[in-house]
Amino acid sequence: MEVSQRTQAIHADDALNTARDVAPPLHVSTTFRYADDPKDLVPAADAHISTTETHIYSRLTTPTTTRLERILAPLLKAPSLTYASGLAALHAAYVYLNPDRVSIGDGYHGSHGVLEIQRKLCGTTILPLHCSAPDLHPGDVIHLETPLNPTGEAYNIREFAEKAHSRGAVLLVDSTFGPPGLQDPFEWGADIVMHSGTKYLGGHSDMLCGVLATNNEGWLAGLKQEREFLGSVMGSMEGWLGVRSLRTLELRVKTQSENASKLVQWLDICKNTDSEDEEAQLVKSIVERIQHASLQHQDMPWLKQQMPNGFGPVFVIWAKTEGMARQLPSLLSLFHHATSLGGVESLIEWRSMSDRTVDSRVLRVSVGVEDWEDLKADLTRAFKGLLSTQNASGCP
Ligand SMILES: *Cc1c(COP(=O)(O)O)cnc(C)c1O
Repeated sequence: MEVSQRTQAIHADDALNTARDVAPPLHVSTTFRYADDPKDLVPAADAHISTTETHIYSRLTTPTTTRLERILAPLLKAPSLTYASGLAALHAAYVYLNPDRVSIGDGYHGSHGVLEIQRKLCGTTILPLHCSAPDLHPGDVIHLETPLNPTGEAYNIREFAEKAHSRGAVLLVDSTFGPPGLQDPFEWGADIVMHSGTKYLGGHSDMLCGVLATNNEGWLAGLKQEREFLGSVMGSMEGWLGVRSLRTLELRVKTQSENASKLVQWLDICKNTDSEDEEAQLVKSIVERIQHASLQHQDMPWLKQQMPNGFGPVFVIWAKTEGMARQLPSLLSLFHHATSLGGVESLIEWRSMSDRTVDSRVLRVSVGVEDWEDLKADLTRAFKGLLSTQNASGCP
């Protein structure tokens, strides 16, 4: 029976549900009993571990992470492997692909840290994202993060797929900011898709997870084999939380993305209106600029196709001054001042706290599933509070 992704999120792991439990049981064992009947004993060297449903040792597979991978496959539209974190997944991809050159732009600072290790060990050359096609050779990687952390800016996946493939290079897409339901990088030519499952796939700020998905069977087998030796597998507890989380992925992400678009639209209108109304004046006196894919008006011809259901729950507010950016989070009550993103609760981060390479006026906002009007009211209150402290301290 062909069913939608939303149904798959609830039922794709039904075949693995061998207990009477409706909610998945949590298995924490690191080791699993072999078959009782000596005739059924197959030494590991003779067995195709990837095709058996039995588990041996938790550095290979476990019941909960296998269940999670089973649900991820139809959601990501490719067989998927889970890792201890997003960066562990990325590291595994680079260890396996072992490219001579990687073309990469701005984006998540930790991904550059992974490539620095790769450069140290293998002498990998780092090229800019907009390098010319002839700079790339077969087996090289274009690492495209879209939408981008922290700004939420989106890039045209198809364009980079064509560039990579014209040179026999590989397109790796970090689609963390465009989870299933918002974006399918394979549709536009990605060869391998990576997610920090810590963000939307987990969605409750309580689990670390990384995912690699690819339709290349050879790569999948190789990655799975190497994961056994890298040892960067997800924990059983996290896998179990992940199964719980994926059930509501679409509901969460859709609501979060809609909330974000409404907030961005409100701020953008306030910023650009000629009206003298109080709210608009307030926003204008604090917000220098707002960044979000929904504001990339010139890119809509391709962007509406790439992200037909919304542009993601993260956006950036550039405050007028560093001082304002540092102070605003403390004046909010519904947004936690914390790093990370993707959870049901709204977060704001003065981005300098975790990434020194980003402009010190940048506030990254990750919108949760609260009522957006409440979030708007919270921001308005905080803007007012900020303005009064600025006036009191004599700053303009
Ligand atoms: C968070 C993040 C990562 C790293 O994921 P971890 O799960 O924290 O290791 C990689 N890429 C992007 C875009 C991210 O936002």
